[in-house]
Amino acid sequence: MKYFPVSLNLRNRSVTLIGGGEIGLRRISALLACDARLRVIDPAASDEVRAKAATGELTLLDRDYRYGDLEGADMVLTATDDEEVNASVWKESRDRGIPVNVADDPDKCDFIVPAVVERGDLTVAISTNGKSPALAARLRRRISGMLGLEYGRYLNVLDGVRDRLKAANLGFERKRRAMYRLIDSDLERLVRESDDAAVERRIVDAIRKAGEDPQPRESMGKVLIVGAGPGDPELITVRGLECIRSADIVLHDRLIDKRLLDEVSPGAEVIDVGKRPGDQDRMQKIIHASMVEHARQGRIVCRLKGGDPFVFGRGGEEARALIEEDVPFEIVPGVTSATAVPAAAGIPLTHRDAAHAFMVMTGSRANNAAEEEWSGAASLIEGGGTLVVLMALAHLSTIVDRLRASGCPAATPAAVVSRGTFHDQTVRVGTLEDIRERMGGIVSPAIAVFGNVVLERTKLEELRAGIVRR
Ligand code: SAH
Repeated sequence: MKYFPVSLNLRNRSVTLIGGGEIGLRRISALLACDARLRVIDPAASDEVRAKAATGELTLLDRDYRYGDLEGADMVLTATDDEEVNASVWKESRDRGIPVNVADDPDKCDFIVPAVVERGDLTVAISTNGKSPALAARLRRRISGMLGLEYGRYLNVLDGVRDRLKAANLGFERKRRAMYRLIDSDLERLVRESDDAAVERRIVDAIRKAGEDPQPRESMGKVLIVGAGPGDPELITVRGLECIRSADIVLHDRLIDKRLLDEVSPGAEVIDVGKRPGDQDRMQKIIHASMVEHARQGRIVCRLKGGDPFVFGRGGEEARALIEEDVPFEIVPGVTSATAVPAAAGIPLTHRDAAHAFMVMTGSRANNAAEEEWSGAASLIEGGGTLVVLMALAHLSTIVDRLRASGCPAATPAAVVSRGTFHDQTVRVGTLEDIRERMGGIVSPAIAVFGNVVLERTKLEELRAGIVRR
């Protein structure tokens, strides 16, 4: 069961509420705030409800509900725990085709009432589709903490800016940019601090800058090649997040966490250009053409890639394609999984006195990599260094065989980390001898780490658990 979220205009609409107790009272304030014509039916209404009836804010029927009471109602809510009343209201509303909400009985609801955080005209509504009002209440508290009391004023300031931008005749695109520039600035803080002079300066500045912006549709746009970080969406850089927010179009890889796409501005386009095995080269060409085309139309293109764009991400090729086509671009580095995932698993890639170097390889070429690459990796590990292998799952067996054949002993410590930095991150630790047997349940993406530093993980874990004696 899924509800369609809407906000209703109840101005001068007839709303009937059965039950004026504690929950009823909350509904009453919310409904009156929307200028509904409200009728409350309750034989034992509280003094507060009676007072509102006395001033004419609502009509009170000082008796039990009876079938027939809903005549003329546009909407009905109950706030009683009397199942008989609820069942009868449900039936009558069905007979008359009036949308109804029976408190605490999802089966008798045409609509549900979300938990809301309100700041002036700003409304954030939270719904769990009726599954957990308690969770909704807690989320409400959290969101309420995020949105300071100044948000109502802030919204009014932005509303005023909209009128001024309209008057400045800048055209749609420049107006949009100016608005986002303001929202992404420190305007909210200035409003909170009631620094009206600074607020005014920011606004004047944004309108002036918007006037100086080249007409976006006529001029060249830009491509932002952005690293999204290793997994957990909070591990993107500040600049990376800014790029997502300011983009007109986002072309993203399969690897990125989709929660990042919630940051895309309304109206911007989002395209999944993730490559599937078998059509990599074709997709890569399409991506190049698409970046060039959108930038030529004056758009800000965010090319969002997992980890760092220049670590096994074909970011270099994309940058070259843009240079060849004379399209301006910016590279925004990301936190690569090559270092972040071992770190998240408690494996330090280097260690003073022990591991002085690390090397990052791809496992996708395990079959084709030159002998020298393997012997280089093996002697690095033998010298105490660390080998990190990305795209390690498909060819793990070959990787292990190659390292063994190049001289790494069977006892060489090995680890595989799957879905690093996510809540379901999994780590398997073993040796070249047995790591393959420990892969049950391991899913992609995964990274393999070989070398003595893998043992440090166990030590760190013990330290954390307080087991190591000093
Ligand atoms: N440019 C990316 C790497 C792309 S190659 C970066 O810098 O991280 C894709 C490989 O990255 C995967 O096969 C896997 O080996 C590794 N990888 C990416 N995210 C990962 C994660 N959350 N956990 C484990 N490995 C990951």
